Amino acid sequence: MNRRSILKSSLTLLAGGAVSKATNAEPAIMNVNTASSPSSLTITDMRYAVIVKPGPSPCVLIRIDTNQGVYGLGEVRDIAGPQYAMVLKSRLLGENPLRIDYLFQKIAQFGGNARQAGGVCAVEMALWDIAGKVYNIPVYQMLGGKWRDEIRVYADTTESMDPTEYGRRAKDRKAMGLTWMKMDLGINVLDGIPGTVMQPSGMSKWELRDQPNLFIATEVTDKGVDRLCEYVAAVRDNIGYDMPLSMDHLGHIGVKSVIRLGKAYEKFNLEWMEDVIPWYYTDLLKEITQESPTPTLTGEDIYKIEDFEMLCREHAVDKIHPDLATSGGILQTHRIGDMAFRYGVPMAMHFAGTPVSCMANVHCAAATRNFLALENHSLDVPFWQDLVSGIEKPIVNKGYIKVPDTPGLGITLNDDELKRHLRPGTGYFEPTPMWDEAQSWDDALFS
Ligand SMILES: [Mg+2]
Repeated sequence: MNRRSILKSSLTLLAGGAVSKATNAEPAIMNVNTASSPSSLTITDMRYAVIVKPGPSPCVLIRIDTNQGVYGLGEVRDIAGPQYAMVLKSRLLGENPLRIDYLFQKIAQFGGNARQAGGVCAVEMALWDIAGKVYNIPVYQMLGGKWRDEIRVYADTTESMDPTEYGRRAKDRKAMGLTWMKMDLGINVLDGIPGTVMQPSGMSKWELRDQPNLFIATEVTDKGVDRLCEYVAAVRDNIGYDMPLSMDHLGHIGVKSVIRLGKAYEKFNLEWMEDVIPWYYTDLLKEITQESPTPTLTGEDIYKIEDFEMLCREHAVDKIHPDLATSGGILQTHRIGDMAFRYGVPMAMHFAGTPVSCMANVHCAAATRNFLALENHSLDVPFWQDLVSGIEKPIVNKGYIKVPDTPGLGITLNDDELKRHLRPGTGYFEPTPMWDEAQSWDDALFS
């Protein structure tokens, strides 16, 4: 063996036995996967698969391929279409995927609030997955390392019109080993009970669904507040007062009704009331937060760190709740957490997708100091964890997800299982040449 071949074989050993295919490997970087030559790595393709599951769905998985066989996995925010990611393909082809922040800033203008950011965030996740595989390192380590080895999961329970049933479902969740609960409880459970909700009759579906709370003159009466309290009491009776209990989907009610509920719920020690009015009414959120003894939280529809910072600086909410597939992906969400820490604001994380996006959340949560708990909507979906391999199963084990130490996000796709859950009429990572060329010149934001 000459010196060159000895060096090459020791690099192969360091890379965990990966076969070196590259002829222009960079021996100076000793722990680099020798299947890859980082400086000449380029993006060659982007494809997708649309997965259908119970709960928020469909979920679009993307795969970014490179010229060296290394690929990255990402996921568009639940319910957003593949076009949000695919419109970015022409901006990514030929680029080095390891330039993560540069590429994110390049495509960031194509993201927006709620599902509109689904594409840019999916790409960002996939770029981290590639970087981790190239350098043989888990994503959390590239963010600065772990604050925790396991990620606490909080669980939603399904709704019922019967308080006793609410209590029973909460008890079942606790029996699964979960250490944090969330209940959805809104004015819909008051439907048909006279004297509980004051609301003008004859409102259109559009008004009820799409007008912000403040404009539909809907308030909860004392009788309504009492009835809602019966549901919370039933849950507390079943899970006790020792574990955190959060609440979401209160319904579209006015600011004063939110405050009245916040006061009525004080005795139940809720961890937070979520998204009580649209997040962009900072002053009104601040009013609620100051008046309500029950803490407030928002953030799952916010894209920009500046908007999170406004809420934190003003202390308009007690806690924030970014969805990593909306809040700019792994690095931006990590930065949001660090920013919030400086203002004394804790960060829970909203999540409703497949295990691909889940693991992006797990790496970010592991590396972010002020993290509280990660949402999971799929505890009752038996095939959810079968969609991927490479990580410990069950993925959610007694209320926690173990942070993996394998490179990148740490997962591979189970093709056969995923193909069983494709959106009918759609393919599995089929070629996407129709997205190769940019169809409009919209990259310049100033002249
Ligand atoms: Mg929510």
